[in-house]
Amino acid sequence: MPKCNCVEINLSDIYGSNVFNASVMKERLPKVTYKALKKTIDDGLPLDPSVAEVVANAMKDWAIEKGATHYTHWFQPMTGITAEKHDSFISPNSDGKAITEFSGKELIKGEPDASSFPSGGLRATFEARGYTAWDCTSPAFVKDSTLYIPTAFCSYTGEALDKKTPLLRSMEALSKQAVRVLKLFGNTTATRVITTVGPEQEYFLIDKEMYDKRKDLIYTGRTLFGAKPAKGQELEDHYFGTLKERVSAFMKELDHELWKLGVSAKTKHNEVAPAQHEIAPIFATSNIATDNNQLAMEIMRKVALRHGLVCLLHEKPFAGVNGSGKHNNWSMSTNDGQNLLDPGRTPHENAQFLVFLCAVIKAVDDYADLLRLSIANPGNDHRLGANEAPPAIVSVFLGEQLTDILEQIEKSGEATCSKQGGELKIGVTTLPALPKDTTDRNRTSPFAFTGNKFEFRMVGSSASIADPNFILNTIVADVLSQIADRLEKAKDFEGEVQQILVEIVKNHKKVIFNGNNYSEEWVLEAEKRGLPNIRSTVDAIPALIAEKNVKIMEKHGVLSKVELESRYEIQLENYIKTINIEALAMLEIAKRQILPASIKYATVLANSINAVKATGVDADTTTQAGLLKDLSAVIASFKKNIQILEEVCEKASNAHGDTYEQACLYRDKVFAQMAVLREDGDKLETMVDRELWPMPTYGDMLFGV
Ligand code: ADP
Ligand code: MG
Repeated sequence: MPKCNCVEINLSDIYGSNVFNASVMKERLPKVTYKALKKTIDDGLPLDPSVAEVVANAMKDWAIEKGATHYTHWFQPMTGITAEKHDSFISPNSDGKAITEFSGKELIKGEPDASSFPSGGLRATFEARGYTAWDCTSPAFVKDSTLYIPTAFCSYTGEALDKKTPLLRSMEALSKQAVRVLKLFGNTTATRVITTVGPEQEYFLIDKEMYDKRKDLIYTGRTLFGAKPAKGQELEDHYFGTLKERVSAFMKELDHELWKLGVSAKTKHNEVAPAQHEIAPIFATSNIATDNNQLAMEIMRKVALRHGLVCLLHEKPFAGVNGSGKHNNWSMSTNDGQNLLDPGRTPHENAQFLVFLCAVIKAVDDYADLLRLSIANPGNDHRLGANEAPPAIVSVFLGEQLTDILEQIEKSGEATCSKQGGELKIGVTTLPALPKDTTDRNRTSPFAFTGNKFEFRMVGSSASIADPNFILNTIVADVLSQIADRLEKAKDFEGEVQQILVEIVKNHKKVIFNGNNYSEEWVLEAEKRGLPNIRSTVDAIPALIAEKNVKIMEKHGVLSKVELESRYEIQLENYIKTINIEALAMLEIAKRQILPASIKYATVLANSINAVKATGVDADTTTQAGLLKDLSAVIASFKKNIQILEEVCEKASNAHGDTYEQACLYRDKVFAQMAVLREDGDKLETMVDRELWPMPTYGDMLFGV
């Protein structure tokens, strides 16, 4: 009987069909060119301009066959989203016709006149213009009749103006240090170590018509008012529930669009909150995973619109309902395919695994402030510590068995596993097989070991994952460099490995916590252990310029002091701007929508009292009078709080001078007053006639798809 596997054929036909990937290159490039380019991609060797010329031409022909008329250098400025400027392939010639052209030079370097992107003063200090440089380690692709070329964005003097540059530099740094350690373990085949990432992306879908009636969502991505609906997420009946038809159609189309672009969308399901969903790709190199996640976010928004939906990527679109995060699964693997966080089968592999594992633990403890900073944004401030996402305290979950092993290492200087009974000497005995399932069950941990990778769970849903990953790579690179320094000098290699592990466990076990991270006890316990609890974005940002952090960023060539200072300015400015926009949007809604609607209803009540009285019937109007009295009191309070918000906004926006001080003002005065105003607004929503309420409610939006 003929076998029908049309689904699979279809899938493999479309997967990567719009990507200039290795197989396309192999097919279209001369052998020598392909080899040279592969060397650059795999080994980080500089690219010969003559190679670029050949690649550019092949890329252009391929893109034109795919319907492209333009090309763009696609980059990731400090706004956190992507930017592009399109140029056509057309080049007019003297006889009035045109040929298509795309040179190696145009492939390698672009000069977008992109002087309006945030540079934190960098461009004033150096050169006004920035340029883009081809990143051949992330494949080009065709989308919307345009050839997209992933690029890094730098100033003319080479300072990073984007998110990709430090990520690429950090991958280099980690590779260099990890290879040093591997060599000492006798690995002669691995020449590079690649960091891998698989981000699980959460998002909300709501009806477009409702979205259009919510100024807060339009301006800020989150609701600034909204009373609790009768039903929230308490039943947890949405989690992994059947997909609604409209949502399912959206997800299907999204998968197809992403597959065409080589984004390996793998799993999709409903999340805990109503209207919340998740999509996860198969992991890739940090760099490609970052580019793919940016693409995924963009395509999600676009495809949603085609289905009359809006995709919300904000960390906290709805108060009182779980927000959205992005679990950043991270590991390191050699270029010959060995996952360095996979516990091995031989004693030798075990020792090596423990060294890499402990390096990560030490890095997380030593640089918890940087990790906290790497995921800080105003949206994420609503999630962290709100018992729906990890707390702002960074700790590591290892699971019982690994923790036990580390405790044994510390106690005896030798690892024994009590559960197995036998003695476990580093480099001699095998570790017991670690069952993966038992390691993955603590969903409250911000940084959990899940069998063969770490899952950094603090990342916000809207953020570029470039930030957490360049920080993660750099801090681990630094600890690996310290370890390599010692091991290279050691006379007794195994003894020194043991010594290093003992020291790391002793000094850093305080960052290991396997319990419930949402509990109040943990906050107190963490304080006793001396772990930082950095509650807000504004508090987190100064980590960028802390001396110890500047030192390692410079040491590993990831970011210079001036680059860090510029990022410090940009992040503070971003906080200020975000809160300012939110406050202004709130004022607009309060004054022009909620206040008028509430007064209208007050008039309805007053008219009712008069109308009843006018009938001459001796009817009771105390209900209306009571409602009117209560309503008027809240209206008065609302009005007063509008005025206070206006005043603190004015004050904060005029507080020029130190950016940090100004950001503090926005947090302590403006943001705080927004919460006060919201309380009144939400009270009004529960009092005013539903017919008069000027916008869709939480219930409408969360259950309206
Ligand atoms: P879950 O967390 O739901 O149990 P998985 O553990 O299978 O699911 O995977 C979650 C994400 O982690 C996926 O994107 C997956 O590709 C990614 N992942 C798996 N292995 C690695 C690795 N070695 N490095 C980075 N990410 C990985
Ligand atoms: Mg997971």
